[in-house]
Amino acid sequence: MGKIFDIQRMSVHDGPGIRTTVFLKGCPLRCLWCHNPESQSFDTVIGYNPEKCVRCGDCAQICSAHTVLEGAHRFDRSLCTACGKCADLCFNHAMLASGYEMNADDVIREVLKDRTFYKTTGGGVTFSGGEPLSQPRFLSELLSKAKAVGLHTVVDTSGFGKRETILEIAPYTDLFLWDLKESSEEKHLAYTGVSSLPIQENLRLVNALGAAVILRCPIIPGLNDREDHLEGIATTVAEFSCIRAVNIMAFHKLGDGKYTAFDMKNRTLDIPAMQKSEAKRIAEVLRKKIAEKTDRPIPVEV
Ligand code: SF4
Ligand code: SF4
Repeated sequence: MGKIFDIQRMSVHDGPGIRTTVFLKGCPLRCLWCHNPESQSFDTVIGYNPEKCVRCGDCAQICSAHTVLEGAHRFDRSLCTACGKCADLCFNHAMLASGYEMNADDVIREVLKDRTFYKTTGGGVTFSGGEPLSQPRFLSELLSKAKAVGLHTVVDTSGFGKRETILEIAPYTDLFLWDLKESSEEKHLAYTGVSSLPIQENLRLVNALGAAVILRCPIIPGLNDREDHLEGIATTVAEFSCIRAVNIMAFHKLGDGKYTAFDMKNRTLDIPAMQKSEAKRIAEVLRKKIAEKTDRPIPVEV
C-alpha cells in the first residue's frame, strides 16, 4: 500500500510514447519553483478553488469547516481534518483532496487500461511525484509488478533518496528521468532545501549499474539560467555515459493557482514564465558546451 495523488493517462512528456503517469505523494525537497506544491506533504492536503465554487452549500451540510452565508463560502482550515468527504461531495470540484492510498495491484490494473496505446507507441508507465524514491517499498513493488506484465518503466526523480533504494529499483527501471536543478552546492541547498551531494552519488551509482538516464534541467529566470550552471550541466553529461539526452524544462506559471488553492506560499510569484525563444537559446548554448566536452551525440530538447 502506498500514497499517490494522481494517475494521469495519455501522458506524452514523461518518457517515450504514450504513457500513464502515477504520481506518488510526498517529497523531501522544497524547490522554490515547484509546480506541484500539493505533492510535497506526505499527508493528504485539501485545496479550495473559489472560482469553481457555486456556493451551493452542500459541503456546509456535512462539515463545520464550511459555512455558506449570504452567497459567500468560507473554508476554515483550522477545523479541517483532511477526511476528503467534501471533495468527494463537491460536484464542481471546488474542493480538492490531494493524496489517497492505493495498493500496487490496483495501480497496475489502472495502468493496464491503456496497454494498447503503449504497444503502438512504445510507451508504458512512469512513476513520478512528489519524489517516488521517498516511498521505496511501494515504488519497488510497483516497478516489479509493472515489469512482470511486460510494461516499459520510467522513474521520474530528483535523485534524492537512499542508495539501497536505487540498488533495489534499478533492475526494474528501463529509464530514469533525472533532475539536475543546480550545479552550485550552495545554491542547490538554497533553492531546493537539500544538498546535491547524495544526488550526485546516486547518479554515479546508476551510471555504474548501466542504467539509462535522460537529464531534466528546470531553468528558472534569474535563479539558475547562468552560464556556470550550463557549464555544470555539460560537465555532468560528459562525465556520466548513462546520460542519453538532456531536456530543458523552461519555467512556467501553471502551478500558481495550486499555491492559492492549497493556501501555500508561492516564492516564485514574481518570476515571469520563460519565453520559448529564451529556452531555445539556452538549449543551443548547452549543445555547444556539451559538444566541447564529449564526442557522444547528446540531443538537447526544449
Ligand atoms: S459543495 Fe463545492 S460548490 Fe458547493 S459550496 Fe461547497 S465548495 Fe462550493
Ligand atoms: S476534508 Fe473533511 S474535514 Fe476537511 S473540510 Fe472537507 S469534509 Fe471537512
